[in-house]
Amino acid sequence: TVRTRFAPSPTGLLHIGNARAALFNYLYAKHHHGEFLLRIEDTDRERSTQEAVDVILDGLAWMGLTPDEPPVFQSTRIKRHQEIALHLLETGKAYKCFCTPEDLAQMRAKALAEGKPPRYNGYWRDRDPSEAPSNAPYTIRIKAPKEGETVIQDLVQGEVTVANIEMDDMIILRADGTPTYQHAVVCDDHDMNITHVIRGDDHLTNSFRQLMIYRAMEWNIPKFAHLPLIHGPDGAKLSKRHGASSVVEFRDEGYLPEALCNYLLRLGWGHGDEEILSRKDQIRLFDLDGVGRSPSRMDYAKLTHVNGYWLRQADDVRLTKDVLSRLKGRKDLDLSQNNEQKIKLLMPGLKERAKNLNELAENASFLCMSIPLNFTDKAQKLLNENNRALLSKLVVELNELPEFTKESVNSCLHAFAEKENLKLGKVAQPLRAAVTGSTMSPGIDDTLLALGKNEVLARLGAVIN
Ligand code: GLU
Repeated sequence: TVRTRFAPSPTGLLHIGNARAALFNYLYAKHHHGEFLLRIEDTDRERSTQEAVDVILDGLAWMGLTPDEPPVFQSTRIKRHQEIALHLLETGKAYKCFCTPEDLAQMRAKALAEGKPPRYNGYWRDRDPSEAPSNAPYTIRIKAPKEGETVIQDLVQGEVTVANIEMDDMIILRADGTPTYQHAVVCDDHDMNITHVIRGDDHLTNSFRQLMIYRAMEWNIPKFAHLPLIHGPDGAKLSKRHGASSVVEFRDEGYLPEALCNYLLRLGWGHGDEEILSRKDQIRLFDLDGVGRSPSRMDYAKLTHVNGYWLRQADDVRLTKDVLSRLKGRKDLDLSQNNEQKIKLLMPGLKERAKNLNELAENASFLCMSIPLNFTDKAQKLLNENNRALLSKLVVELNELPEFTKESVNSCLHAFAEKENLKLGKVAQPLRAAVTGSTMSPGIDDTLLALGKNEVLARLGAVIN
């Protein structure tokens, strides 16, 4: 079975480049009826925080990318990493290096002076460890192949070749007994039975180094797929100055997870012209051969468009909950259950008119305001003397309605406009301003119904007096 993994280091935010790698790993596994795993690469104890682990777990849960097994914490596996390093030592595939940091600095300086790349020169590779001072600390280095070349058939990048002379004997275990990144990744991927390593193409050179360990251990080598990075609209590596770049930021800015996933998938992966794909379709259609080789550029406008689509598809109860959580803490609002009900009632109209969840919340907030409302300038202008006089006549009609339904409200408004010799809009505009405080809302009938008769009359009363 196909087994993929997402292996973030918990050192900060969940960048959307990483989030997209997680999505591709998930979709690839699911498409092939395989398993998607999570490994937290927390061996850098100083930089790894529980907070950052939570950011990753929350981000993945939010995106609906649930791993099929509990997460593996790399820091718990150090004994195993050591065991494998010692095995390589015993089998002669690795050796002890007693070079001090000063020795290494000298070696580098010398190489640079001679115009050579600053690599480790293999000083201890064939030396007898007994030449070292007793009790001298040592690192364990793997023996890199000295000739030939290494080829990776990358599922995205195609065939990539590196001359082995380019690679030096890298450290797998530090003097303090901790594994290096390259070593830990390979041990873990092997033990987790990972069949496909799908990650950013900034890891391509690491793959060549990691291959040395697979070969030395005679382990099965997984397939590699290195994804191009995501760039900003200007072609530079995506960062904060372009706008949101981490999962939490997109969530805070009001994007829906299905929109972000849908967009991140289409960014650099093509399936015809289809822009909108449900998770089910994504799983059905995704494969690595559709992934392009060049970096993709983040297009925030397109993401907003996709977000609008998923917003309109989203369930009203869910959206109401989200709106409430975004409005929480606003002291000017009454977020009682009664008002929650009003938001839910008006949600079909509200979600047609919002680009994101923050806008949706803002547009819904009038339902929870108390009297007097905060009026926008435009609304204030509409509530001039003439219109206030008009509304005071309308109040009487609305008050007399025996029942407050869509039909009764509509026919009341139509009849009133006709009697006043006005187009319906000329009645609806000041009415909307009076009951919402703004000039934009869903249809006036739905708006009145969501507020309820009493609230409508109270809001009108506050304006006409
Ligand atoms: N922990 C690495 C990172 O955050 C990923 C390593 C990998 O996917 O192999 O970039």
